[in-house]
Amino acid sequence: MDDALFINIVDIISEGVYYVDRNRRITFWNRGAERITGFSRIEMLGEDCGSNTICDHGGTAADSCPLAVVMEDGKTRESDIFFHHKDGHRIPVSLRSTPLRDSRGEIVGAIEVFSDRSARGGLIAELERLKKEALTDPLTGLGNRRFVEVNLEARFEALDGEGIPFGVIMFDIDRFKSVNDQHGHEVGDKALRAVADSISASLRRLDVAARWGGEEFLVLSPNVSAEVLGQIAERVRQTVMAGRIELPGGVKLGLTVSGGGALARKGEAFEDLLSRADMRLYACKEGGRNRSLVGE
Ligand code: GH3
Ligand code: MG
Ligand code: MG
Repeated sequence: MDDALFINIVDIISEGVYYVDRNRRITFWNRGAERITGFSRIEMLGEDCGSNTICDHGGTAADSCPLAVVMEDGKTRESDIFFHHKDGHRIPVSLRSTPLRDSRGEIVGAIEVFSDRSARGGLIAELERLKKEALTDPLTGLGNRRFVEVNLEARFEALDGEGIPFGVIMFDIDRFKSVNDQHGHEVGDKALRAVADSISASLRRLDVAARWGGEEFLVLSPNVSAEVLGQIAERVRQTVMAGRIELPGGVKLGLTVSGGGALARKGEAFEDLLSRADMRLYACKEGGRNRSLVGE
């Protein structure tokens, strides 16, 4: 491989890469290193790595400089340290220091590969985790009520803007209070998880299910007619009915749900759509439960 091609490849990766010779003079500095530290290749080539331009481990305290140690004993090392950014702030980096050997096996320098810890783990991952947590129901792992609100907003935008239809189905477990009363709250929680799983298993890829509250679940289905929405509601009802929850002592408990669904109308408020679905759910309960009713 020629040198130019090699440099191109090393420049594509997002990590910082640099080499030093035995005197810790920098002989290579890739684009990743420029991006993470703010120091350009021109500024860094020939720079003494012990001069503390980019880290605190230079100077004469060779035993704390990973590169110096690696060149001493020839063993690769990983460490988490701080670099100095050209702007003056400090950057947490994870680095791997490896000795460079010539064809006779003599150590002629070292190579350091480093990545920005603040970008990788830290804040962004933490924000992603918090966002997910804020939208998830901890008991069932489904979306929570907030998740529904965010999704409804997006679905209404698609309906009002591009005319993409969608519908909702509200499911409510039948006679759930008696499950808690007869078997205890823990069995009740297990039943909620089982119903959540049955609902998820009955949906199409683009449908989403959420726990609306208590023992009520809401399904959002994009791109449906009233007929297809009705089929989805029936599939969910039958899947739940077919399931059995194992109780201590080998007893098996069956559950049913009732579901009311409605198609969204352009420009209507969330509450109006949900209330149409809810009225049909109520009719199912009145009609004897374990049934579904869906309409425009
Ligand atoms: P219906 O067929 O009319 O819906 O009867 P139901 O008993 O399901 O209705 P009701 O609204 O009276 O009872 C709902 C029960 O759901 C009340 C409460 O004990 C139970 N519940 C709500 N949230 C939870 C939960 O997080 N865990 C458990 N174990 N039970 C819950
Ligand atoms: Mg209820
Ligand atoms: Mg109920």
